[in-house]
Parts: sequence; C-alpha cells; structure tokens
Amino acid sequence: MSHVFPRHTKVRPPVARRGDGAYIIDAEGRRYLDGSGGAAVSCLGHSDPEVIAAIQAQAEQLAFAHTGFFTSEPAETLADRLIAHAPEGIEKVYFVSGGSEAVEAALKLARQYFLEIGEPARHRVIARRQSYHGNTLGALATGGNAWRREPFAPLMIETSHISPCYDYRGRAEGESAEDYGQRVANELEAELLRLGPETVLAFVAEPVVGATLGAVPPVPGYFRRIREICDAHGILLILDEVMCGMGRTGTLFACEQDGVRPDIITIAKGLGAGYQPIGAMLCSGAIYGAIEGGSGFFQHGHTYSGHPTACAAATVVVDKLTGGGLTDRARTMGETLDAALRAAFGQHPHVGDIRGRGMFRGLELVADRDTKEPFAPDRAIHKAVKRAAFEAGLICYPMGGTIDGLRGDHILLAPPFILTEAQVEELVGKLSTALDAAL
Ligand code: PLP
Repeated sequence: MSHVFPRHTKVRPPVARRGDGAYIIDAEGRRYLDGSGGAAVSCLGHSDPEVIAAIQAQAEQLAFAHTGFFTSEPAETLADRLIAHAPEGIEKVYFVSGGSEAVEAALKLARQYFLEIGEPARHRVIARRQSYHGNTLGALATGGNAWRREPFAPLMIETSHISPCYDYRGRAEGESAEDYGQRVANELEAELLRLGPETVLAFVAEPVVGATLGAVPPVPGYFRRIREICDAHGILLILDEVMCGMGRTGTLFACEQDGVRPDIITIAKGLGAGYQPIGAMLCSGAIYGAIEGGSGFFQHGHTYSGHPTACAAATVVVDKLTGGGLTDRARTMGETLDAALRAAFGQHPHVGDIRGRGMFRGLELVADRDTKEPFAPDRAIHKAVKRAAFEAGLICYPMGGTIDGLRGDHILLAPPFILTEAQVEELVGKLSTALDAAL
C-alpha cells in the first residue's frame, strides 16, 4: 500500500521513473510524450544536462542559506537576469517556491504598499470570472473559478470578479474584437465605481489565460484599456504569468506582446522548468521604493525563498530561454504546432476553436461546431480526452466547467520548446487518436 496522499484517491497513477527530452518514461517502460509540460512547467524537456550540472555544482558549493541571514550569488545573478529582460519599470525580484506563493506575495505586497503610502482603506481585489491564480487561500480567493472556490469561500479575502476577455464565447455577433475588448475592460471601471475605487488594491489577470480557459489571448487593446483604468483610479495591475510567462508564448514575459506595463508580475512553472521548485514576484521600483523609504521591511517570507540551488538552476533556464534562443524557438515551433493543429482539427465537428500563442495552445471542444453548443457537463469530455490521450502515450492538460454560461471543455497544450517537427506530428496524431476514442 502506498503512503503517498495522492491527488485522486480512487485511481493509482503509473510510477514516473525517467525523463528523456520531451518524454516521461514510467516504471513499466511506457513512453509518454509530454504535450503539456505537466502543467506548462517543463519548457526544456526532462533531461537538460546543463540545468542538471548547475544543480549539482551549486549543491556541492552551497545548497541552502536562509535569506534572514544571507543573500546568495545565485539569487543575485538570477534577479539581474530577470530584470534585464523585464518590462519597463520592473526593478526588483522576490523569490518564492511556486506560483501560489508568488501570488500570495503579490497580494500582500500590494496591501503593504498602500499601508506604507497612507491609503489603508484599500483592501479589495478585483479579478476575472473563470480565472485561476493558485490554491493557497489568498490566491484561491483571487481566482474566479467557482468549483475551486466554493468549499473554501468562508475562509477567503474579499474579491470580486468581472468578465474574462474570452473572444470565442464573449464577443457579440457583429461586434469588432477591439470593441469587445473595450467593453469587457470597462467592466473593471464599473466594478471599481460600485465598490468605491479608494477601497481597491489591485486588478489581477493572466495575460494569456491558461488552466481555466485553455490558452486564451486577449483581444488587441484590452490590456491597454485595463492599464488606463488602473491608473485613473490608483490601483495596481498585477499580471499573473505563472503559466504563460518564461517564454511560453514566444516572448520571455507574455505581457510584452500586449504593450502593457504591469506594477507586479508573478512567475513560476517555466522558471525552474521542473528541475527545481521556484517562483518569483517582480515589482516596480515605485512599489519597492515605498517599502524602502517607509518601514524598510516587507512583512512576508518563506523558509525556502531564494533557495540557492533553485536559483542556480533557474539562471541556466533563463539563459537558455534568452541568449540560448529557446524563447524564439517557442515562437516558431509554436507556429508549426498551430498549423498542424489547424490542419488536423480545423474542420473537426467537435473542435470549436483553436487558439493560443507560441507553445501555449488550446482546443475548445463543443457538441456542435456551428452553434458552439457545449457538451453536457455530465459527459466530462475533457477528462475522457485526457484519459484516452494518456492511453495513447500523450500527456495533455484538460479543463472543463461552467461559469455564467461560459461552459468550456478544453485541452491545453504546452509542450517543451525543444519539440521537433516529428514530435509535433506525433503529438497531433496521438491527440487525434484520443479525440476519436473519446468523442
Ligand atoms: N497562477 C496561475 C496562472 C497558474 O496557472 C497556477 C497553477 O497552475 C498558479 C498560479 C499556481 O501555481 P502553483 O501550482 O505553482 O502554486
């Protein structure tokens, strides 16, 4: 009997034993093509020798030193690398161990910032319906995914949710993409006015929505309008790039493509590429300056913040993504993947939409392609596709749910950037087998 407390208690998953590039091999010797990088984590594949060597070297040199006593060379180097590539105005990096921790740090920093500058009434957060920002209580409160929130709602901080920017289901007939973007962005202003803008800390959103909607990019101009509204009411813009950041969409930070300048960015997943658990919260010089010139102490912290071994691994990851050209490869191979998906499923009766950027692609599965009618929720089509794909030797990330009538069964693809053209074909072929078996 296993003593591991698993995600699902009624099914025992195979034992993962070895990584080989884009594949995971189980204890029985079965090979699985990692079409989703787990959950958009493994951007370099599973056996990168340079990252492994960096971990080994750092562990021999110094595995851990508590940030209450020391900074470390790997943390300093990684912060320099990230800031060299970060959007304008972002100046400081606060290290954590994963995505939820990064979001918690962002929320607490936003709150402390307003306390430091003498605006203590600001305590509310606005995010979007059908969003996911992590599973710890603050991050869970921020997310707008009803199923995940419901059991824990009494424990959570005060948040409210506006519509996502979800072109496929949200845009009205005859409405231009730009007009749609302005309309849904303006919901932020309406919600601010309803709450009283002086009570709100921040608006939180993923630039390209991952887990809950399946690689949905914003329409042009959406985030520019969001930024204007944040500025007009003095609230912070927190962009959650835990899933879509670190080269996944074809630029190191996804928000670069939307010409938006956030106050805080959260990253994780691809930062450690699965080799080490690491995340980070990046903030503007203005926010940092308020703390530096005020109390001088951010009232937060975790034991493993800035873990030297994790930072050493992530530095190699960032170097490979930037100087090593892997972010460019995510863009170009992502286009190859998109073309292959469109060729295979563009006319599929149950594929309503194919979308995404770079190596971050989503398929929305529908009962009727012409009317966009979703599958009945009790069919749990996304789970059936995940199971059938796994049987065919492909890992893909499923999600389904209904919020405000936005029912979605979708499949998220986020493969390693090292994928070859032959592996793109293998991925699409196995997905096709899975769709045939499940639909
Ligand atoms: N934010 C986003 C956008 C995510 O997709 C996730 C995880 O899927 C998180 C935060 C939470 O990250 P973690 O699972 O590392 O805590």
